[in-house]
Amino acid sequence: MAETKFRELAQLGERMERTKKRLEIAGMVAEFLRGLAEEEIGPGVRLLIGQVFPEWDSRTLNLSWRAVQSVLSELADLGRAERGKISAEVVDTGEWARLALERFPKAKPQPPPLTLLEVYRTFEEIAGTSGPGSRGEKERLLKSLLQRATPVEAKYIVKDVIGEMRHGAQEGMILLAIARATKVEQSLVTRANMLSGDLGEVAKVALVQGEAGLARINPRLFRPLKPMLAQVAEGVEEALREHQGETALEYKLDGARVQIHKEGEEVRIYSRHLSDVTVSLPEVVAQVKTGLVADKAIVEGEVIAVDAAGWPRPFQEVMRRFRRIHDLEAIQKAVPVRLYLFDALLRNGQSLVDLPYEDRWQVLRDISGDLSLVERIIPGDEKEGEVFLHKAQEAGHEGVMTKSLKSPYTPGVRGKAWFKIKPAVSLDLVIIAADWGYGRRHGWLSNYHLATRDEETGEFMEVGKTFKGLTDKEFEEMTQRLLDLEISRDGGTVYVQPKTVVEVLFNEIQKSPHYPSGLALRFARITRLRDDKSAQEADTIQTMRQLFAAQFEKKGG
Ligand code: ATP
Repeated sequence: MAETKFRELAQLGERMERTKKRLEIAGMVAEFLRGLAEEEIGPGVRLLIGQVFPEWDSRTLNLSWRAVQSVLSELADLGRAERGKISAEVVDTGEWARLALERFPKAKPQPPPLTLLEVYRTFEEIAGTSGPGSRGEKERLLKSLLQRATPVEAKYIVKDVIGEMRHGAQEGMILLAIARATKVEQSLVTRANMLSGDLGEVAKVALVQGEAGLARINPRLFRPLKPMLAQVAEGVEEALREHQGETALEYKLDGARVQIHKEGEEVRIYSRHLSDVTVSLPEVVAQVKTGLVADKAIVEGEVIAVDAAGWPRPFQEVMRRFRRIHDLEAIQKAVPVRLYLFDALLRNGQSLVDLPYEDRWQVLRDISGDLSLVERIIPGDEKEGEVFLHKAQEAGHEGVMTKSLKSPYTPGVRGKAWFKIKPAVSLDLVIIAADWGYGRRHGWLSNYHLATRDEETGEFMEVGKTFKGLTDKEFEEMTQRLLDLEISRDGGTVYVQPKTVVEVLFNEIQKSPHYPSGLALRFARITRLRDDKSAQEADTIQTMRQLFAAQFEKKGG
């Protein structure tokens, strides 16, 4: 079989860009995959999605956009003015490359066309180049590719280098394409992908070995899995309802998540973002080596910083430990840490991910030896859950996690099997409009548009709506009050003078394309009127941005 040319991948990318139809795109990708030789499938998929190495693979190309631009400029003889002109025309880096080479072609003898594997192997070589002088070497290797590339091929090479594909070949699409190309049930392909963390490998196994091969994909030692994630729940009641009463509550510790892999004497620790942080946590490594009663295991937990009395210290402290690779003795003393385990994904080589949570917990208990497990209960009712939540906060923790007893471990998925419940935060916000209610709230202005103040412009910026928190009597009073402040109407909405300040509890701030402020509150509810405050004293968008940044930093974004 002749080697696949890189041109075919670039042409596929171009065709994908031209359509929005999912099934059509999946069909094209499926056809492309079927045409690849076995050793081309993995690299082909990775190059198509613009992720040259899987997330768990620590290799990176380490080529900045600036470096890429300088290589392109050299190849196409671009001066400053010409570069500026292209930049004014396009923002996409791939398009930039295409235009550069199209407009300023250099005379060259026709080089042999690039093959897909040549491109991939050159990327591997670029990633493998490190140390002094590596920047020049990386640029030389990139140049060797771009020199031989057509403008459209250059577009896709650059997109791969920068990691920016925009043609819709996202993970979900490739999974669909693999299912179509192999006639294997998509849920099996998705499961294999969660456990492998490498779409390229999944595609290859699916195409070469079919369903049986995919079913054999399981967690592997020293290849970190993406962590299973939680959605936010408003309170214990919601979590119990969603889990039909069959849920466990665990302390939500305010530290850093770790995934620990152990085989005999070898222990590696990975962070939430799958980086290897083993060297930064020697005392945890030592504990696991002697404490974990399993020869081959993968367990998960949280590492928290503690003070001399064992009381949890803020999350920022533990992050100091994760970043540090030198002078470890000093920092071990200054920031002592503790490990609490909460899940087991592999024992003696056997995968546990498909087992229900409760069974995994039992295994964890069996193998954890003298290591600590996170505090947990299976509450009989809501009341018991509330008491436990309260206890967690009293002990200085963030809140609780609730985990459905029956749920398997689904890496990378933020579903309803796990919830996090954190104490709500409150802000004082201004009502700037309200919608007429319907049903039971008919005749009342009952859905309130809440705004923060912009310290810089003095304007009020909407950040959420809520109809929660008021009694019937309060609805009536609020309706009258707002009608007295009416400025205008639009459909079912009454706009009012920004004078009414209310205290609002919420569980999370999220990004929002919907509001000009760019931020929105989740689970907002009014707790009381703040007639003692003027609108000028309400909380500002600047404060809210700070809260959001703190939340974001926690996620290591
Ligand atoms: P957050 O910023 O709230 O920590 P996140 O995006 O990192 O969120 P989520 O799955 O949303 O992750 O929330 C769970 C996080 O809480 C985990 O990533 C972990 O770091 C931490 N955590 C603390 N205690 C537990 C526990 N008992 N079980 C699972 N995760 C826990």
